[in-house]
Amino acid sequence: MVGICGVYCGACTTYRAYNDNDQTLFDWEVKTGMPREEIYCKGCNSNLVNKWCANCDFRKCVNARKIAYCFQCEDFPCRKLVDFSKTRPHRALGLRNLRQLKEMSVKEWLKKQEKRWTCSSCGKKLHWYSEKCSDCGADFDNATQEVSSKSKSFHEKHSKTHSSKPEGMARGAGFEPARPERPQA
Ligand code: SF4
Ligand code: SF4
Ligand SMILES: [Zn+2]
Repeated sequence: MVGICGVYCGACTTYRAYNDNDQTLFDWEVKTGMPREEIYCKGCNSNLVNKWCANCDFRKCVNARKIAYCFQCEDFPCRKLVDFSKTRPHRALGLRNLRQLKEMSVKEWLKKQEKRWTCSSCGKKLHWYSEKCSDCGADFDNATQEVSSKSKSFHEKHSKTHSSKPEGMARGAGFEPARPERPQA
């Protein structure tokens, strides 16, 4: 459930749609441009990884460096990772997550993430862009709200790059293949 780039896969919209067989979320994903047959994933380190994440440059880079996650890299956080974190709220949280993972065990971190992305009223698992609980209707602070509530200080705190240049990264390569962009919330 820990993404190589730091995202928490348990709150991923693709993961939740597929693993909960959530037709509303499937429809939302399709509306944002994802072909229905491509909505599948059991997590970044599972045996069924969505094709976009299976082919991302972060995966290639950690494989080349023989590490599992970007937070284990001596060049963490590299410029590409920081730039990526600025493109979507859940990716901003991903960079923050990697910093947390340097300070705490994966087990402890996962426990916190599970709680963070669960409805406190009814226990339903929610996703990065849930605006309220889809089961009981309780209010929910999603990734957009978490990042914007911390706004400037969040970005200042989490966007500092490592000074040395990343290796093992195709120069100029984008981190995402040409997948249509999804709305931020
Ligand atoms: S699609 Fe990517 S972010 Fe979502 S669960 Fe799979 S590996 Fe994680
Ligand atoms: S160079 Fe960047 S993308 Fe590559 S492993 Fe290090 S932090 Fe991750
Ligand atoms: Zn609920």
